[in-house]
Amino acid sequence: GACNADAADSRILVFVRLRPMSKKEREAGSRSCVKIVSKKDVYLTEFASESDYLRLKRVRGRHFWFDASFPDSTTQAEVYGATTSDLVEGVLQGRNGTVFCYGATGAGKTYTMLGTMESPGVMVLAIKDLFSKVRQRSHDGNHSIQLSSLEVYNDTVRDLLSPGRPLLLREDKQVMKLLQQGNQNRTTEPTRVNETSSRSHATLQVIVEYRSMEGGSIVTRVGKLSLIDLAGSERALATDQRTQRSIEGANINRSLLALSSCINSLVEGKKHIPFRNSKLTQLLKDSLGGSCNTIMIANISPSNLSFGETQTILHWADRAKKI
Ligand code: ADP
Ligand code: MG
Repeated sequence: GACNADAADSRILVFVRLRPMSKKEREAGSRSCVKIVSKKDVYLTEFASESDYLRLKRVRGRHFWFDASFPDSTTQAEVYGATTSDLVEGVLQGRNGTVFCYGATGAGKTYTMLGTMESPGVMVLAIKDLFSKVRQRSHDGNHSIQLSSLEVYNDTVRDLLSPGRPLLLREDKQVMKLLQQGNQNRTTEPTRVNETSSRSHATLQVIVEYRSMEGGSIVTRVGKLSLIDLAGSERALATDQRTQRSIEGANINRSLLALSSCINSLVEGKKHIPFRNSKLTQLLKDSLGGSCNTIMIANISPSNLSFGETQTILHWADRAKKI
């Protein structure tokens, strides 16, 4: 299982999800530079530049090891089952759990988290699973399920679902539609990388409250599942310091840096974790480190055109797994 009750054993579990080559990448003549060698072994190839004949034959590569890697044939249900279903069980027991997707724009973060109508992602599958588990247990108490979806953009927080208060969810039928509407409220701006790339971090928090009468007194348990679709990890490309885009870039970098430094501090076993350095890490304060409850999914493209980004993500993910 993804969770281990033994605190000494607890750490972030890091997964890598490779998406299929897109039509656009294929048409641009790109080659695949990522190979899933085995369940835990991801091999990244650096092709020598075609124009540099001296280096043409010098093809280097490196293995990266993770808790698991998902090849491009992996289904949404398989990703959910391997990353999040244990956390959902934990949330029902009153524990907190966090899953975040990290990667460059276009690498498959939103596909993994939200998915499509035909192939719903982790957020939708988690809520459906929660409801079915709650239905199975409804005889022994009362559960309430509340959702809140926040966007962190330019280090300010905005509500994507129901401003000011969590939304009480009574059934799971319309969840996909609801989350898609929320997703459409996200701040998107054209960038040089992808015209519809999202420049914001989106968080969905599912709060499950359980109440029952035990031996004449009321027992309450609250568990929180945080699902986070991070902004594109690529560095801000704008050169003009006065443009909105570069302010965004700086803020995205700031919150990803803050997240990195929290993770580094956790890796190093520091007492003080700098959660207060950004809005994003403030939101994640009770959801990172501590007991084994944090899952990171690094999303990558197979294309050699994204080699630099993929290398950066794999390095970062490699560091995160030491927590
Ligand atoms: P990001 O949120 O990281 O910017 P997206 O999730 O929007 O990237 O993915 C970019 C495109 O690739 C989308 O059209 C998406 O549907 C597609 N895609 C991503 N991952 C997969 C996958 N595992 N299988 C099929 N299509 C995918
Ligand atoms: Mg996205």
